[in-house]
Amino acid sequence: MILPGQTVGILGGGQLGRFLSIEARLMGLKTVVLDPTPGSPAGQVCDRQIVAPVDDAKAALELALLCDVVTLEWELIPAPVLEAIEAVKPLFPSSKVIRLIQDRLTQKDFLHKHGFPQTPYAEVSNATELKKAAKKVGYPCILKRRTHGYDGKGQYRLKSAKDLPGAAATLQAPCVLEAMVDFQREVSVITAFGQDGQSRAFPLAENVHRNGILHSTVAPAGIPIPQSDPVFALADKIGRALGHVGVMAVEMFQKKDGSILVNEIAPRVHNSGHYTLGACATSQFEQHLRAVCALPMGSTAIDGPSVMINLLGELWAGGEPRWKELIGHPYVKLFLYGKAKPAPGRKMGHFLFLGEHPDGPLLEAERLYSRLVPAALVQS
Ligand code: AMP
Repeated sequence: MILPGQTVGILGGGQLGRFLSIEARLMGLKTVVLDPTPGSPAGQVCDRQIVAPVDDAKAALELALLCDVVTLEWELIPAPVLEAIEAVKPLFPSSKVIRLIQDRLTQKDFLHKHGFPQTPYAEVSNATELKKAAKKVGYPCILKRRTHGYDGKGQYRLKSAKDLPGAAATLQAPCVLEAMVDFQREVSVITAFGQDGQSRAFPLAENVHRNGILHSTVAPAGIPIPQSDPVFALADKIGRALGHVGVMAVEMFQKKDGSILVNEIAPRVHNSGHYTLGACATSQFEQHLRAVCALPMGSTAIDGPSVMINLLGELWAGGEPRWKELIGHPYVKLFLYGKAKPAPGRKMGHFLFLGEHPDGPLLEAERLYSRLVPAALVQS
């Protein structure tokens, strides 16, 4: 058991590391963060930041030696770096889990091997293979780089064979091709897995993406799903098959007939679980710390309806957003990540709307969101 006064190392100093550090501090734990940007979002609130790239094995080892346990907020860390850490300190999730998840193909092969439902896919390395794969999975389909693609980056959509030539840029790196899913809604299950085999899920989150980036989360999901529903069992089985320790998000598509397909697994705290910090008795960040520190799990009970809306860099196009519109509202909690430079698509912060509204909380949250910047600047 890692107890208050001891130190947790975090690989990556973005907003996820920031909330992990804040929650650690509330629990009396210390944190050391590894991130290349001085004064990173997590660096501003942790006990110490080592300024170096997260794939710098020497710096990662330095961090490990300062800590009692190491975790991460970013799964694209090279496996050899993680193995070097594991040689000296406990690391959760393990290098084995990260190695499997960080490549879309090995992740999909893992899901396939265990019979977990997903959309048809095929490995693609060049234009000839793409043509063949598109015939196999069918149009419309979506080409994704196997590694380093997130928030819709490194992806290319094909409606028909006419779109094949446009895939050249994405094909500069190994890819997978997936059949597009005609989904009714996107949901995610956030579950924490302990070292003793216990697991606990948060209420189901319903997500809306814009341009491949998460825009909003409603929790509990619009059509609530009881904890006994198979979606929770599916996420649980995936975590157990992986041997995961810590929080894990499973993003899923729900089709019109109610059936579920796994979209992707994130073996870490996740943007669609941000609502838990504000809405739940225990946040996903505290729960993750509890799991990696071998502490008992906290309650995942939710106080009431919650809506999370991401604040991306484009909101700053005309200067600072009109915060007063948000923070003047008694049901709103604003979270900003302390990032110096807003850029389009960059996650700068989010807000939560925690309460009921006659028109539904999501509609009211969207109204508040639209007041943040002059109408002419709002992007959708
Ligand atoms: P990803 O980074 O792979 O999770 O993709 C980002 C978003 O793009 C997803 O949350 C979906 O909204 C959309 N998307 C990705 N893959 C598919 C698919 N096979 N079918 C339909 N929509 C998809």
